[in-house]
Amino acid sequence: RNSARSGGLNSEVNNVSDSKNLRVKLVLLGDSGVGKSCIVLRFVRGQFDPTSKVTVGASFLSQTIALQDSTTVKFEIWDTAGQERYAALAPLYYRGAAVAVVVYDITSPESFNKAQYWVKELQKHGSPDIVMAFVGNKADLQEKREVPAQDGMDYAEKNGMFFIETSAKTADNINELFEVIAKRLPRPPPS
Ligand code: GDP
Repeated sequence: RNSARSGGLNSEVNNVSDSKNLRVKLVLLGDSGVGKSCIVLRFVRGQFDPTSKVTVGASFLSQTIALQDSTTVKFEIWDTAGQERYAALAPLYYRGAAVAVVVYDITSPESFNKAQYWVKELQKHGSPDIVMAFVGNKADLQEKREVPAQDGMDYAEKNGMFFIETSAKTADNINELFEVIAKRLPRPPPS
């Protein structure tokens, strides 16, 4: 499969392999501590390990999912690796990203505000047809909730994003998050 193929409708954004198998860059954004690494590890390895702070760093983790229509999507997942502190580097990080997942922690209004900042950054610097998900994580901590689900939903809707609340700890809605993203990706015409 020639992943370096140029041309084609979505090749600017999606690193398209063929019409049935997509390969896409996904970037994670959000305050430190909201659970980005845990979401990735839950999705890729099916684990929740609060003790191991994995920094994906310069590399990325990838995970392929199959959809019911027998197409596949391979996500190449880029964790911010501290980029939240180096906002000037962000445009490099967004480049070529077909998907952005903006995460906040439902127990932290500060992280909710910061998530909105990242959405604005994406609207400025990201690809115009980037698929954006707005994610309220730590949904298992209902008793500590400080951001109503409705606030997340309203903000996401206003900004054309898909909204979901997840828990990396209990695995709630983690697979669903990636499945919905996969279904929303622009597809190349069948060849
Ligand atoms: P990151 O800095 O955004 O990558 O955040 P991490 O993935 O390192 O998670 C930060 C902290 O939040 C860790 O102590 C995790 O154990 C905890 N955490 C992450 N996701 C969840 C979750 O869904 N529920 C709960 N209760 N804690 C979580």
